[in-house]
Amino acid sequence: MSRFWSPAIHALEPYVAGEQPKIPGLVKLNTNESPYGPSQKVLDAIAATSGERLRLYPDPASTGLREAIAKRFDLAMDEVFVGNGSDEVLAFTFAGLLKHDAPLLHPDITYSFYKTYARLFEVKVEEIPLDDGLRVRIGDYDRPCGAIILANPNAPTGIALPLTEIEKLVASHPDQVVVIDEAYVDFGAETAASLIPRYENLLVVQTFSKSRSLAGLRVGFALGQRPLIEALERMKDSFNSYPVDMLAQAAATAAIEDEAWFDEARGNIIANREMVTKALEARGFEVLPSSTNFVFARHPAHQGADLQRGLRERAVLVRHFNKPRISDFLRVTIGTTEECHQFLEAIDQII
Ligand code: PMP
Repeated sequence: MSRFWSPAIHALEPYVAGEQPKIPGLVKLNTNESPYGPSQKVLDAIAATSGERLRLYPDPASTGLREAIAKRFDLAMDEVFVGNGSDEVLAFTFAGLLKHDAPLLHPDITYSFYKTYARLFEVKVEEIPLDDGLRVRIGDYDRPCGAIILANPNAPTGIALPLTEIEKLVASHPDQVVVIDEAYVDFGAETAASLIPRYENLLVVQTFSKSRSLAGLRVGFALGQRPLIEALERMKDSFNSYPVDMLAQAAATAAIEDEAWFDEARGNIIANREMVTKALEARGFEVLPSSTNFVFARHPAHQGADLQRGLRERAVLVRHFNKPRISDFLRVTIGTTEECHQFLEAIDQII
């Protein structure tokens, strides 16, 4: 605290990201990164962009990247917005689209950055509890509101809603923006992008950080009809004229075009997720049905915090949330096959 701070700073509740350790050799299953490096085509695109050209500003409109994303989702380029990670896309969304007199609705257990942004941008929020199975129940969102944001699949539970449920939510709130944050959608859920031509109130947000192995470059994007995308462009142009750097634009463009690498990487992660799920269940864990690159699991005889500590002592990092209803659980990112086995061996030593 300091007398130099603006009053708004005192009210902030900053998001606390998972540990990014400095010591080598840890099995890092705590922040849902991909265990695989990006494709060779991505590395080639970065190499081709480096060097003398870096003295220039990047394309402020990220034209090539937006074209490549639009092509993949069968949309027009001007229905795509890109930013520095989906966190920044979400920040612009909160500031530009979600602040109204009526409250923004979001689940009480979800990506905790939503609460941080709501504080930062003074968005009134009403949290909607998950049901007894830690699921989002669409009917619970049938109430007066200014906007809605859901992560689908949800985090940290990993549970996805089917597209039919998402469409029901979007269709029943024609006068409110409905944001679907699809950070983990590529690991087994269905994107709502196909609904965009029919629903002017739908904004879909995705990231290159997970299924495309580019967390280090910070690229995310939003898909929606023009009025919503235009709001994000206005926010961006009032904030940073060159948000996505030249290397990130080149790498992400190559990443979205390399379908073969993408399918192989996510296929491996899904197979390892099923392996880890079965192995944990065989050890007495309850594992929520995951459509993501992580599992959310608890053991009836071991506290989540104790398990996390025991794993840390064995050089395995996982995430634990000290929050009501989920403090028993561990969130474990799906790593390489070897990392998954190292995790399971450490679990065997603990329980
Ligand atoms: N949404 C959800 C649900 C997430 O879990 C994350 C990653 N922690 C993000 C968005 C942000 O990802 P990024 O900024 O790396 O695109």
